[in-house]
Amino acid sequence: AVRVELLTVGDELLRGDTANGNATWLGRRLTEAGAEVTRSAVVPDDLEVISGAVHDALTRADAVIMTGGLGPTSDDMTREAIALAAGVTLHRDPDVERNLRERAAARRVPLRPDALRMADVPGGATLLPNPAGSAPGLRLALPDGVVYALPGVPSEMRAITEESILAELGGETVSAAVLRTATVWESVVADRLAPVEAMAGVKLAYYASAGEVRVRIEAEGTDRLAEAEAAARDLLGSALYGDGEVTLDRVVHGLLAERGATVAVAESLTGGLLGAELTAMPGSSATFAGGVIAYATPLKHSLLGVPEDLLAAHGAVHPEVAAAMARGVRERLGASYGLAVTGVAGPEPQDGHPVGTVHVAVADSGGDVWTRSPGLPVAADGARARAGIRQMTAVH
Ligand code: ATP
Ligand code: MG
Repeated sequence: AVRVELLTVGDELLRGDTANGNATWLGRRLTEAGAEVTRSAVVPDDLEVISGAVHDALTRADAVIMTGGLGPTSDDMTREAIALAAGVTLHRDPDVERNLRERAAARRVPLRPDALRMADVPGGATLLPNPAGSAPGLRLALPDGVVYALPGVPSEMRAITEESILAELGGETVSAAVLRTATVWESVVADRLAPVEAMAGVKLAYYASAGEVRVRIEAEGTDRLAEAEAAARDLLGSALYGDGEVTLDRVVHGLLAERGATVAVAESLTGGLLGAELTAMPGSSATFAGGVIAYATPLKHSLLGVPEDLLAAHGAVHPEVAAAMARGVRERLGASYGLAVTGVAGPEPQDGHPVGTVHVAVADSGGDVWTRSPGLPVAADGARARAGIRQMTAVH
């Protein structure tokens, strides 16, 4: 595969004022196209630093893709930096100049003298047409590799990449699959998949978010991939909920729709997250009846019919309270299933229960109730812990 380094330019990126979406998008798109992205660097609007970074990147990689700093203002110095790195001078391209003048005239704005800098091209570079804006991209082949320079504006950067770069840098795509798990910790997923990890020609990567883990399986060839994926599916068992781009809410919706069933939710610590997740997709009204946020303990009785003596004896955080909430919301909202959660999101313990104590219950129309108390891990930082526990609870 062609080895590509990314070089995103701009003080704003270093300061954290702009999220580096260009690097994210380029990384994904180039990988999909079969290139290998080997490094990504962010540099300030500084001529010497940019030029040095271009030079360094080409000592390692076959190509470097730069974004940003192609515009008309004095802080835009990517063209100068490339010329410096390549040891060439800039010349003004008459076609680009005419195009800039025409665009300005069409928009009835005076062309600032600075704007003509966008027509300056390093010697030997070719222009990459910009279907989405005025500054064209640049391509300069040097002895050590090829430099591509693209505008920072994401829509322009993407358009030029799709049109002029991917075909040149792409190659054989690697075979990869993504499996998605819920309710199991990353380390447990990794333990279970150890036999797959040991298969020759197979590479695994794990991406964890609150309560979910995505496992990317990469293999040499489609046969090997199919074998690895089948083994992984087996080992993950019920923790596996889907693959590819599918999301948990869609899977839940699909399972309910298959049965012609609906669900109603009774939420406490999640404060509406469950309802939000289950109504995220269009068409969710076919399977989602509604929900009750019974945050204050007395409301668990008055809105959901949780027996007062149960609440008096155990407080609000108890498996039987979750079960009664699930039964209550199912009956009151006339759904096939009632789903309820109660627990402690933190940062403080509640009624002697530590942060992360969570009880989940599902009630069905036959009167059966299923409860589960996962015991969620607590992040060190209290504020993050609270958000994490609420999200993990929704996933469970
Ligand atoms: P312009 O002609 O707009 O000046 P430019 O090529 O000079 O384009 P920059 O000035 O660096 O590019 O960036 C223009 C805008 O594009 C920024 O204000 C920012 O919103 C966005 N942008 C720049 N770099 C990135 C990046 N790496 N990721 C996401 N957005 C970016
Ligand atoms: Mg700019």
